[in-house]
Amino acid sequence: MRLSRYFLPVLKESPRDAQIVSHRYMLQAGMIKQASAGIYSWLPLGFKVLRRIEDIVHEEQAKAGHIAIQMPTIQSADLWRESGRYDAYGDELLRITDRHDHEMLFTPTAEELVTDIFRSHVSSYKSLPLTLYQIQWKFRDERRPRFGVMRGREFYMKDGYNFDLTKEDALHAYNRHLVSYLRTYERMGLQAIPMRADSGPIGGDDTHEFLVLAETGESEVFYDSAVTDLTFGDRDIDYDNVDQCAAVMEEFTTKYARTDETHDEALFNEVPEERRKVARGIEVGQIFYFGTKYSEAMGATVQGPDGKPVPVHMGSHGIGVSRLLGAIIEASHDDNGIIWPEGVTPYHAGIVNLKQGDAEADAACEALYAQLTNAGLEPLYDDRDERAGGKFATMDMIGLPWRITVGPRGLKNGVVELTSRKTGESEEMAPEAAVARLVEIYKAHDIGHG
Ligand code: ATP
Ligand code: MG
Repeated sequence: MRLSRYFLPVLKESPRDAQIVSHRYMLQAGMIKQASAGIYSWLPLGFKVLRRIEDIVHEEQAKAGHIAIQMPTIQSADLWRESGRYDAYGDELLRITDRHDHEMLFTPTAEELVTDIFRSHVSSYKSLPLTLYQIQWKFRDERRPRFGVMRGREFYMKDGYNFDLTKEDALHAYNRHLVSYLRTYERMGLQAIPMRADSGPIGGDDTHEFLVLAETGESEVFYDSAVTDLTFGDRDIDYDNVDQCAAVMEEFTTKYARTDETHDEALFNEVPEERRKVARGIEVGQIFYFGTKYSEAMGATVQGPDGKPVPVHMGSHGIGVSRLLGAIIEASHDDNGIIWPEGVTPYHAGIVNLKQGDAEADAACEALYAQLTNAGLEPLYDDRDERAGGKFATMDMIGLPWRITVGPRGLKNGVVELTSRKTGESEEMAPEAAVARLVEIYKAHDIGHG
Protein backbone atom coordinates (compact mmCIF):
# COMPACT_ATOMS: atom_id res chain seq x y z
CA MET A 1 0.00 0.00 0.00
CA ARG A 2 1.18 3.51 -0.84
CA LEU A 3 0.39 6.02 1.84
CA SER A 4 -0.47 8.69 -0.76
CA ARG A 5 -3.39 6.50 -1.87
CA TYR A 6 -4.41 5.13 1.53
CA PHE A 7 -6.95 6.42 4.00
CA LEU A 8 -5.04 6.85 7.25
CA PRO A 9 -6.51 9.77 9.21
CA VAL A 10 -3.75 10.11 11.84
CA LEU A 11 -4.62 12.79 14.41
CA LYS A 12 -2.03 15.45 15.21
CA GLU A 13 -3.27 15.95 18.75
CA SER A 14 -3.66 13.22 21.29
CA PRO A 15 -7.42 12.82 21.95
CA ARG A 16 -8.14 14.15 25.42
CA ASP A 17 -11.23 12.16 26.31
CA ALA A 18 -9.49 8.78 25.97
CA GLN A 19 -8.34 7.54 29.38
CA ILE A 20 -6.12 4.61 28.51
CA VAL A 21 -3.26 4.36 26.08
CA SER A 22 -4.77 1.76 23.74
CA HIS A 23 -7.90 3.84 23.25
CA ARG A 24 -5.85 6.98 22.70
CA TYR A 25 -3.51 5.37 20.18
CA MET A 26 -6.30 3.63 18.27
CA LEU A 27 -7.99 7.00 17.78
CA GLN A 28 -4.75 8.81 17.08
CA ALA A 29 -3.50 6.22 14.57
CA GLY A 30 -6.76 6.51 12.66
CA MET A 31 -7.85 2.93 13.39
CA ILE A 32 -11.35 3.55 14.73
CA LYS A 33 -13.93 6.29 14.95
CA GLN A 34 -16.62 6.37 17.57
CA ALA A 35 -20.11 6.23 16.07
CA SER A 36 -21.96 6.41 19.40
CA ALA A 37 -21.21 5.34 22.96
CA GLY A 38 -19.40 1.99 22.84
CA ILE A 39 -19.98 1.63 19.08
CA TYR A 40 -17.19 2.15 16.55
CA SER A 41 -16.49 2.30 12.85
CA TRP A 42 -13.36 0.43 11.91
CA LEU A 43 -11.16 2.52 9.64
CA PRO A 44 -8.75 0.79 7.20
CA LEU A 45 -5.79 0.33 9.56
CA GLY A 46 -7.93 -0.88 12.47
CA PHE A 47 -9.97 -3.12 10.22
CA LYS A 48 -6.79 -4.68 8.86
CA VAL A 49 -5.54 -5.61 12.33
CA LEU A 50 -9.00 -6.89 13.24
CA ARG A 51 -8.87 -9.21 10.23
CA ARG A 52 -5.35 -10.38 11.07
CA ILE A 53 -6.56 -11.35 14.53
CA GLU A 54 -9.66 -12.98 13.10
CA ASP A 55 -7.53 -14.99 10.64
CA ILE A 56 -5.35 -16.33 13.47
CA VAL A 57 -8.45 -17.34 15.43
CA HIS A 58 -9.91 -19.15 12.40
CA GLU A 59 -6.63 -20.94 11.67
CA GLU A 60 -6.22 -22.18 15.24
CA GLN A 61 -9.86 -23.25 15.46
CA ALA A 62 -9.48 -25.25 12.26
CA LYS A 63 -6.40 -26.99 13.72
CA ALA A 64 -8.46 -28.00 16.76
CA GLY A 65 -11.10 -29.52 14.48
CA HIS A 66 -13.77 -26.92 15.17
CA ILE A 67 -16.18 -25.97 12.40
CA ALA A 68 -17.04 -22.40 11.41
CA ILE A 69 -20.62 -21.28 10.91
CA GLN A 70 -22.28 -17.85 10.90
CA MET A 71 -25.43 -17.11 12.88
CA PRO A 72 -27.55 -13.96 12.63
CA THR A 73 -27.06 -10.98 14.94
CA ILE A 74 -30.83 -10.46 15.32
CA GLN A 75 -32.62 -13.36 16.97
CA SER A 76 -36.15 -14.21 18.01
CA ALA A 77 -37.01 -13.77 21.69
CA ASP A 78 -38.95 -17.07 21.62
CA LEU A 79 -35.80 -19.17 21.70
CA TRP A 80 -34.51 -17.19 24.63
CA ARG A 81 -37.77 -17.82 26.48
CA GLU A 82 -37.18 -21.55 26.11
CA SER A 83 -33.90 -21.32 27.98
CA GLY A 84 -35.28 -18.82 30.48
CA ARG A 85 -32.68 -16.22 29.62
CA TYR A 86 -35.01 -13.70 27.94
CA ASP A 87 -36.02 -12.45 31.37
CA ALA A 88 -32.89 -13.48 33.25
CA TYR A 89 -30.32 -11.66 31.10
CA GLY A 90 -31.29 -8.20 32.31
CA ASP A 91 -30.59 -4.76 30.91
CA GLU A 92 -27.54 -5.74 28.87
CA LEU A 93 -29.86 -7.46 26.40
CA LEU A 94 -30.91 -5.12 23.60
CA ARG A 95 -34.55 -5.91 22.90
CA ILE A 96 -36.06 -5.01 19.52
CA THR A 97 -39.63 -5.16 18.22
CA ASP A 98 -40.18 -5.64 14.50
CA ARG A 99 -43.08 -4.22 12.41
CA HIS A 100 -45.23 -7.27 13.16
CA ASP A 101 -44.74 -6.74 16.87
CA HIS A 102 -42.47 -9.79 17.11
CA GLU A 103 -40.03 -9.55 19.95
CA MET A 104 -36.46 -9.83 18.77
CA LEU A 105 -33.04 -9.17 20.28
CA PHE A 106 -29.49 -8.38 19.23
CA THR A 107 -27.39 -11.38 20.21
CA PRO A 108 -25.05 -10.95 23.20
CA THR A 109 -24.03 -14.65 22.85
CA ALA A 110 -25.57 -17.57 20.98
CA GLU A 111 -26.11 -20.68 23.13
CA GLU A 112 -29.83 -20.78 22.30
CA LEU A 113 -29.49 -20.41 18.54
CA VAL A 114 -26.71 -22.96 18.20
CA THR A 115 -28.63 -25.43 20.40
CA ASP A 116 -31.63 -24.96 18.11
CA ILE A 117 -29.47 -25.74 15.06
CA PHE A 118 -28.13 -28.80 16.82
CA ARG A 119 -31.51 -30.23 17.89
CA SER A 120 -32.91 -29.72 14.39
CA HIS A 121 -30.18 -31.66 12.63
CA VAL A 122 -28.42 -34.04 14.98
CA SER A 123 -30.17 -37.08 16.41
CA SER A 124 -27.52 -39.74 16.96
CA TYR A 125 -24.47 -39.97 19.20
CA LYS A 126 -22.61 -41.08 16.06
CA SER A 127 -22.51 -37.43 14.91
CA LEU A 128 -20.57 -36.47 18.05
CA PRO A 129 -18.24 -34.96 19.04
CA LEU A 130 -19.16 -31.70 17.33
CA THR A 131 -17.89 -28.17 17.92
CA LEU A 132 -19.41 -25.26 15.98
CA TYR A 133 -18.14 -21.72 16.25
CA GLN A 134 -18.55 -18.33 14.69
CA ILE A 135 -16.89 -14.93 14.71
CA GLN A 136 -19.71 -12.44 14.81
CA TRP A 137 -20.69 -9.04 16.15
CA LYS A 138 -22.33 -9.06 19.55
CA PHE A 139 -24.22 -6.39 21.40
CA ARG A 140 -24.38 -5.92 25.15
CA ASP A 141 -25.90 -2.73 26.46
CA GLU A 142 -23.09 -2.22 28.96
CA ARG A 143 -23.86 0.27 31.70
CA ARG A 144 -20.48 1.93 31.29
CA PRO A 145 -19.00 1.37 27.85
CA ARG A 146 -15.45 2.68 28.05
CA PHE A 147 -11.82 2.38 27.08
CA GLY A 148 -12.65 2.21 23.37
CA VAL A 149 -12.88 -1.32 21.99
CA MET A 150 -12.06 -2.79 25.41
CA ARG A 151 -15.59 -2.46 26.72
CA GLY A 152 -17.78 -1.67 23.77
CA ARG A 153 -21.49 -2.16 23.46
CA GLU A 154 -21.02 -3.62 19.99
CA PHE A 155 -17.99 -5.91 19.86
CA TYR A 156 -16.59 -8.73 17.75
CA MET A 157 -16.36 -12.10 19.42
CA LYS A 158 -15.48 -15.64 18.56
CA ASP A 159 -18.01 -17.91 20.22
CA GLY A 160 -17.75 -21.69 20.03
CA TYR A 161 -20.02 -24.43 21.31
CA ASN A 162 -19.17 -28.09 21.87
CA PHE A 163 -21.70 -30.93 21.84
CA ASP A 164 -20.64 -34.22 23.41
CA LEU A 165 -22.23 -37.46 24.51
CA THR A 166 -20.68 -37.62 27.97
CA LYS A 167 -19.28 -35.32 30.58
CA GLU A 168 -15.86 -36.87 29.99
CA ASP A 169 -15.98 -36.05 26.29
CA ALA A 170 -17.13 -32.51 27.05
CA LEU A 171 -14.23 -32.05 29.47
CA HIS A 172 -11.88 -33.11 26.69
CA ALA A 173 -13.49 -30.43 24.51
CA TYR A 174 -12.87 -27.97 27.35
CA ASN A 175 -9.19 -28.92 27.51
CA ARG A 176 -8.92 -28.81 23.72
CA HIS A 177 -10.24 -25.27 23.76
CA LEU A 178 -7.77 -24.28 26.44
CA VAL A 179 -4.88 -25.58 24.32
CA SER A 180 -6.12 -23.89 21.16
CA TYR A 181 -6.55 -20.60 23.02
CA LEU A 182 -3.02 -20.73 24.44
CA ARG A 183 -1.71 -21.12 20.89
CA THR A 184 -3.98 -18.41 19.54
CA TYR A 185 -2.83 -15.76 22.03
CA GLU A 186 0.82 -16.68 21.71
CA ARG A 187 0.66 -16.19 17.95
CA MET A 188 -0.55 -12.67 18.67
CA GLY A 189 2.51 -12.02 20.80
CA LEU A 190 0.44 -12.10 24.00
CA GLN A 191 0.74 -13.96 27.25
CA ALA A 192 -2.82 -14.75 28.34
CA ILE A 193 -2.95 -16.64 31.62
CA PRO A 194 -5.83 -19.06 32.27
CA MET A 195 -7.38 -18.23 35.63
CA ARG A 196 -10.15 -19.95 37.53
CA ALA A 197 -13.21 -17.74 37.24
CA ASP A 198 -16.87 -17.36 38.03
CA SER A 199 -19.45 -18.41 35.46
CA GLY A 200 -21.83 -15.41 35.55
CA PRO A 201 -25.07 -15.33 33.53
CA ILE A 202 -24.03 -18.09 31.11
CA GLY A 203 -24.02 -20.46 34.06
CA GLY A 204 -21.87 -23.52 34.55
CA ASP A 205 -19.55 -25.62 36.60
CA ASP A 206 -16.10 -25.29 35.16
CA THR A 207 -14.71 -22.09 33.76
CA HIS A 208 -11.42 -20.35 33.14
CA GLU A 209 -10.81 -16.84 31.94
CA PHE A 210 -7.71 -15.87 29.96
CA LEU A 211 -6.10 -12.71 31.29
CA VAL A 212 -3.44 -10.45 29.89
CA LEU A 213 -1.65 -8.69 32.71
CA ALA A 214 -1.91 -4.90 32.37
CA GLU A 215 -2.20 -2.04 34.84
CA THR A 216 -5.27 -0.76 33.01
CA GLY A 217 -7.06 -4.12 33.21
CA GLU A 218 -10.52 -4.11 34.76
CA SER A 219 -10.10 -7.38 36.66
CA GLU A 220 -8.16 -7.83 39.87
CA VAL A 221 -6.10 -11.01 39.70
CA PHE A 222 -4.13 -13.09 42.18
CA TYR A 223 -1.46 -15.48 40.94
CA ASP A 224 1.69 -17.44 41.59
CA SER A 225 4.37 -15.66 39.53
CA ALA A 226 5.54 -19.09 38.31
CA VAL A 227 2.58 -19.08 35.89
CA THR A 228 4.22 -16.30 33.89
CA ASP A 229 7.12 -18.64 33.06
CA LEU A 230 4.82 -21.02 31.21
CA THR A 231 4.71 -20.84 27.42
CA PHE A 232 3.15 -23.21 24.95
CA GLY A 233 5.77 -22.55 22.27
CA ASP A 234 5.86 -24.58 19.09
CA ARG A 235 5.30 -28.01 20.63
CA ASP A 236 3.23 -30.46 18.65
CA ILE A 237 -0.18 -31.36 19.89
CA ASP A 238 -2.67 -33.96 18.74
CA TYR A 239 -6.03 -32.43 19.55
CA ASP A 240 -7.75 -35.84 19.52
CA ASN A 241 -5.37 -37.12 22.17
CA VAL A 242 -7.27 -36.86 25.45
CA ASP A 243 -4.22 -37.37 27.69
CA GLN A 244 -2.08 -34.84 25.84
CA CYS A 245 -4.73 -32.10 26.11
CA ALA A 246 -5.36 -32.97 29.76
CA ALA A 247 -1.63 -32.72 30.49
CA VAL A 248 -1.46 -29.22 29.01
CA MET A 249 -4.55 -28.26 30.97
CA GLU A 250 -2.94 -29.46 34.17
CA GLU A 251 0.37 -27.78 33.41
CA PHE A 252 -1.30 -24.40 32.83
CA THR A 253 -3.99 -24.44 35.52
CA THR A 254 -2.53 -26.13 38.59
CA LYS A 255 -0.57 -23.17 39.92
CA TYR A 256 -2.59 -20.55 41.73
CA ALA A 257 -4.16 -18.03 39.33
CA ARG A 258 -7.62 -16.62 40.05
CA THR A 259 -9.76 -13.60 39.46
CA ASP A 260 -11.20 -11.77 42.45
CA GLU A 261 -14.50 -13.63 42.01
CA THR A 262 -12.95 -16.97 42.94
CA HIS A 263 -9.98 -15.78 44.97
CA ASP A 264 -9.29 -17.85 48.10
CA GLU A 265 -6.97 -16.11 50.55
CA ALA A 266 -6.09 -19.28 52.48
CA LEU A 267 -5.09 -21.19 49.35
CA PHE A 268 -3.20 -18.17 48.04
CA ASN A 269 -1.18 -18.04 51.25
CA GLU A 270 0.20 -21.51 50.48
CA VAL A 271 2.12 -19.96 47.56
CA PRO A 272 5.64 -18.90 48.65
CA GLU A 273 5.43 -15.25 49.59
CA GLU A 274 7.90 -13.92 47.01
CA ARG A 275 5.83 -15.53 44.24
CA ARG A 276 2.44 -14.19 45.42
CA LYS A 277 1.29 -11.48 43.02
CA VAL A 278 -1.74 -9.22 43.06
CA ALA A 279 -2.20 -7.36 39.80
CA ARG A 280 -4.69 -6.30 37.18
CA GLY A 281 -5.63 -8.07 33.97
CA ILE A 282 -7.65 -7.77 30.79
CA GLU A 283 -10.00 -10.66 30.10
CA VAL A 284 -9.45 -11.72 26.47
CA GLY A 285 -11.30 -15.02 26.54
CA GLN A 286 -13.24 -17.51 28.59
CA ILE A 287 -14.07 -21.21 28.39
CA PHE A 288 -17.06 -22.87 30.09
CA TYR A 289 -18.31 -26.35 30.67
CA PHE A 290 -21.99 -26.20 31.63
CA GLY A 291 -23.18 -29.75 31.07
CA THR A 292 -26.81 -30.26 30.10
CA LYS A 293 -28.16 -26.86 31.18
CA TYR A 294 -29.25 -25.78 27.67
CA SER A 295 -29.73 -29.20 26.14
CA GLU A 296 -32.24 -30.16 28.84
CA ALA A 297 -34.09 -26.85 28.73
CA MET A 298 -34.30 -26.95 24.94
CA GLY A 299 -34.62 -30.67 24.25
CA ALA A 300 -31.26 -31.17 22.56
CA THR A 301 -30.97 -34.93 22.90
CA VAL A 302 -29.31 -37.63 20.85
CA GLN A 303 -29.93 -41.33 20.70
CA GLY A 304 -27.17 -42.96 22.75
CA PRO A 305 -25.46 -46.29 21.97
CA ASP A 306 -28.20 -48.11 23.89
CA GLY A 307 -30.93 -46.49 21.78
CA LYS A 308 -32.17 -44.24 24.59
CA PRO A 309 -32.32 -40.45 24.19
CA VAL A 310 -29.81 -38.48 26.30
CA PRO A 311 -29.29 -34.73 26.58
CA VAL A 312 -25.90 -33.67 25.20
CA HIS A 313 -23.14 -32.18 27.33
CA MET A 314 -22.14 -28.73 26.23
CA GLY A 315 -19.71 -25.93 26.79
CA SER A 316 -19.18 -22.51 25.27
CA HIS A 317 -15.95 -20.72 24.59
CA GLY A 318 -15.33 -17.09 23.73
CA ILE A 319 -12.50 -14.90 22.48
CA GLY A 320 -12.85 -11.13 22.56
CA VAL A 321 -11.57 -10.49 19.05
CA SER A 322 -12.10 -6.69 19.01
CA ARG A 323 -10.99 -6.32 22.64
CA LEU A 324 -7.74 -8.04 21.70
CA LEU A 325 -6.61 -4.99 19.72
CA GLY A 326 -6.78 -2.93 22.89
CA ALA A 327 -5.13 -5.65 24.97
CA ILE A 328 -2.25 -6.03 22.51
CA ILE A 329 -1.64 -2.27 22.50
CA GLU A 330 -1.78 -2.09 26.31
CA ALA A 331 0.87 -4.82 26.39
CA SER A 332 3.02 -3.41 23.58
CA HIS A 333 3.56 0.32 23.10
CA ASP A 334 5.88 3.20 24.06
CA ASP A 335 5.56 6.97 24.28
CA ASN A 336 5.68 7.33 20.50
CA GLY A 337 2.91 4.91 19.67
CA ILE A 338 1.92 1.31 19.10
CA ILE A 339 4.44 -1.53 18.69
CA TRP A 340 2.65 -4.34 16.83
CA PRO A 341 3.85 -7.89 17.38
CA GLU A 342 4.84 -9.41 14.03
CA GLY A 343 1.96 -11.89 14.09
CA VAL A 344 -0.76 -9.23 13.94
CA THR A 345 0.86 -6.17 12.37
CA PRO A 346 -1.32 -4.51 9.71
CA TYR A 347 1.68 -4.09 7.38
CA HIS A 348 4.89 -6.04 7.70
CA ALA A 349 7.28 -3.16 7.08
CA GLY A 350 7.18 0.54 6.41
CA ILE A 351 9.27 2.10 3.67
CA VAL A 352 10.24 5.69 4.32
CA ASN A 353 11.54 7.69 1.39
CA LEU A 354 13.62 10.54 2.79
CA LYS A 355 13.65 12.44 -0.50
CA GLN A 356 10.49 11.95 -2.48
CA GLY A 357 11.03 13.01 -6.08
CA ASP A 358 14.71 12.10 -6.11
CA ALA A 359 14.97 9.68 -9.04
CA GLU A 360 17.34 7.28 -7.33
CA ALA A 361 15.52 7.23 -3.97
CA ASP A 362 12.15 6.76 -5.67
CA ALA A 363 13.49 3.90 -7.78
CA ALA A 364 15.06 2.17 -4.75
CA CYS A 365 11.79 2.42 -2.82
CA GLU A 366 9.81 1.04 -5.77
CA ALA A 367 12.25 -1.87 -6.05
CA LEU A 368 11.95 -2.64 -2.32
CA TYR A 369 8.19 -2.42 -2.55
CA ALA A 370 8.12 -4.91 -5.41
CA GLN A 371 10.56 -7.33 -3.77
CA LEU A 372 8.71 -7.39 -0.45
CA THR A 373 5.38 -7.84 -2.22
CA ASN A 374 6.75 -10.67 -4.35
CA ALA A 375 7.96 -12.37 -1.16
CA GLY A 376 4.37 -12.40 0.11
CA LEU A 377 4.81 -9.50 2.54
CA GLU A 378 2.75 -6.31 2.68
CA PRO A 379 4.78 -3.12 2.85
CA LEU A 380 3.40 0.32 3.58
CA TYR A 381 5.32 2.85 1.51
CA ASP A 382 5.30 6.44 2.75
CA ASP A 383 5.58 8.12 -0.63
CA ARG A 384 4.16 11.45 0.50
CA ASP A 385 6.01 14.67 -0.14
CA GLU A 386 6.61 15.31 3.56
CA ARG A 387 9.48 16.00 5.90
CA ALA A 388 11.36 12.99 7.28
CA GLY A 389 10.38 13.84 10.88
CA GLY A 390 6.67 13.68 10.05
CA LYS A 391 7.09 10.38 8.24
CA PHE A 392 8.96 8.84 11.18
CA ALA A 393 6.33 10.09 13.64
CA THR A 394 3.56 8.49 11.60
CA MET A 395 5.42 5.18 11.33
CA ASP A 396 6.11 5.17 15.06
CA MET A 397 2.48 5.91 15.91
CA ILE A 398 1.02 3.18 13.68
CA GLY A 399 3.60 0.76 15.06
CA LEU A 400 4.85 -1.36 12.16
CA PRO A 401 7.57 -3.63 13.64
CA TRP A 402 10.12 -2.81 10.92
CA ARG A 403 11.00 0.29 8.95
CA ILE A 404 13.28 0.59 5.94
CA THR A 405 14.61 4.11 5.50
CA VAL A 406 15.82 5.05 2.05
CA GLY A 407 17.76 8.24 1.23
CA PRO A 408 20.20 9.54 -1.37
CA ARG A 409 23.11 9.58 1.07
CA GLY A 410 22.83 5.89 1.98
CA LEU A 411 22.15 4.87 -1.58
CA LYS A 412 25.49 6.39 -2.62
CA ASN A 413 27.07 3.69 -0.45
CA GLY A 414 24.59 1.08 -1.63
CA VAL A 415 22.74 0.85 1.70
CA VAL A 416 19.37 1.46 3.30
CA GLU A 417 18.58 1.41 7.02
CA LEU A 418 16.52 -1.31 8.70
CA THR A 419 15.05 -0.20 12.05
CA SER A 420 13.27 -2.22 14.71
CA ARG A 421 10.26 -0.39 16.15
CA LYS A 422 10.63 -2.26 19.40
CA THR A 423 14.31 -1.68 20.18
CA GLY A 424 14.85 1.41 18.04
CA GLU A 425 18.08 -0.17 16.77
CA SER A 426 19.06 0.50 13.17
CA GLU A 427 21.34 -1.39 10.87
CA GLU A 428 22.65 -0.35 7.46
CA MET A 429 22.61 -2.96 4.74
CA ALA A 430 22.06 -3.49 1.04
CA PRO A 431 18.36 -3.30 0.05
CA GLU A 432 18.36 -6.99 -0.92
CA ALA A 433 19.75 -7.91 2.50
CA ALA A 434 16.95 -5.96 4.19
CA VAL A 435 14.36 -7.85 2.17
CA ALA A 436 16.03 -11.17 2.97
CA ARG A 437 16.10 -10.32 6.69
CA LEU A 438 12.39 -9.49 6.74
CA VAL A 439 11.50 -12.64 4.83
CA GLU A 440 13.42 -14.63 7.43
CA ILE A 441 11.76 -12.88 10.37
CA TYR A 442 8.25 -13.39 9.05
CA LYS A 443 8.90 -16.99 8.06
CA ALA A 444 9.03 -17.73 11.78
CA HIS A 445 5.44 -16.46 11.92
CA ASP A 446 4.46 -18.45 8.84
CA ILE A 447 3.87 -15.22 6.92
CA GLY A 448 5.06 -14.68 3.34
CA HIS A 449 7.11 -17.19 1.36
CA GLY A 450 10.26 -15.78 -0.11
P1 ATP B 1 -16.58 -9.01 31.03
O1 ATP B 1 -16.45 -9.73 32.34
O2 ATP B 1 -15.34 -8.30 30.61
O3 ATP B 1 -17.82 -8.17 30.95
P2 ATP B 1 -17.77 -11.40 30.02
O4 ATP B 1 -17.18 -12.38 30.95
O5 ATP B 1 -19.14 -10.94 30.25
O6 ATP B 1 -16.79 -10.14 29.91
P3 ATP B 1 -17.88 -13.41 27.94
O7 ATP B 1 -19.32 -13.67 27.89
O8 ATP B 1 -16.98 -14.35 28.61
O9 ATP B 1 -17.64 -11.92 28.53
O10 ATP B 1 -17.40 -13.09 26.44
C1 ATP B 1 -16.22 -13.64 25.85
C2 ATP B 1 -15.17 -12.57 25.61
O11 ATP B 1 -15.71 -11.47 24.90
C3 ATP B 1 -14.64 -11.96 26.89
O12 ATP B 1 -13.62 -12.77 27.42
C4 ATP B 1 -14.11 -10.62 26.42
O13 ATP B 1 -12.81 -10.77 25.91
C5 ATP B 1 -15.04 -10.27 25.28
N1 ATP B 1 -16.01 -9.25 25.71
C6 ATP B 1 -17.03 -9.39 26.59
N2 ATP B 1 -17.71 -8.24 26.77
C7 ATP B 1 -17.09 -7.33 25.95
C8 ATP B 1 -17.33 -5.94 25.68
N3 ATP B 1 -18.34 -5.28 26.24
N4 ATP B 1 -16.51 -5.33 24.80
C9 ATP B 1 -15.50 -6.00 24.20
N5 ATP B 1 -15.24 -7.30 24.42
C10 ATP B 1 -16.02 -7.96 25.29
MG1 MG C 1 -16.07 -13.76 30.53
